[in-house]
Amino acid sequence: MRRKLAAGNWKMNGTAADLAELNVLATLMPADAPEVIICPPAPLLYRASTAAQATPISIGAQDCHMQASGAFTGDISAAMIADTGAAYVIVGHSERREAHAERDRDIRKKAKAAWASNLTAIICIGETLEDHEANNTLDIIAGQLAGSLPSAVTAENTIIAYEPVWAIGTGKVPTLDQIAEVHDFIRSKLAIRYGADIADMIPLLYGGSVKPENAALIFEAENVDGALVGGASLKATDFAPIISALAQS
Ligand code: PEP
Repeated sequence: MRRKLAAGNWKMNGTAADLAELNVLATLMPADAPEVIICPPAPLLYRASTAAQATPISIGAQDCHMQASGAFTGDISAAMIADTGAAYVIVGHSERREAHAERDRDIRKKAKAAWASNLTAIICIGETLEDHEANNTLDIIAGQLAGSLPSAVTAENTIIAYEPVWAIGTGKVPTLDQIAEVHDFIRSKLAIRYGADIADMIPLLYGGSVKPENAALIFEAENVDGALVGGASLKATDFAPIISALAQS
């Protein structure tokens, strides 16, 4: 059985007071909840990890540098993230690819840096609206998988999040058939590269405007093992129904 996961990406939102949401979320989560990860902004990681100790929630960062240390003002290393008590790190989010010009090969190096500090990498891929409208989605996804994933991917060190860029924060969501097609394609590509045994166990998350209202439908797709959620992860009362929908899927 593959792990089910619900990951919340708080992006550049929240201060220490908002960590109270972790306790609220823990009380609203069903007893049979899947794994839940919250990725707050870097300054909150230590406090979030400490607060989450009394809950079933795990903590992740939103990015890490590819180098272990050095003259990289403003950046944080995977070891620093691990030192806060966090266990996961998102790499290759489309907002980093776009606003920070991150390329597939940078993301591959960041995933390896994450592993070197015993963090699980949540590697994001997804096509732009232009690619989507030109029917290039599968080609783009194949290229990002080939370029962003290191060769030592396992089901323990990596989670893959498929996030169509045009669905992030827009309220637009692909149809269930479109989501299923891309997730099936990702699983088949992983099987070719890593073998069916590993590919079958790697969690694949869908991300892009997942809300309490559409989560159950999205989780119907066979190769969707959970969600990476932005806006709807900020409030426990929004995120909890998504987690419940995943538990029931
Ligand atoms: C995200 O940023 O990863 C995301 C999926 O955001 P939203 O849920 O707000 O679309």
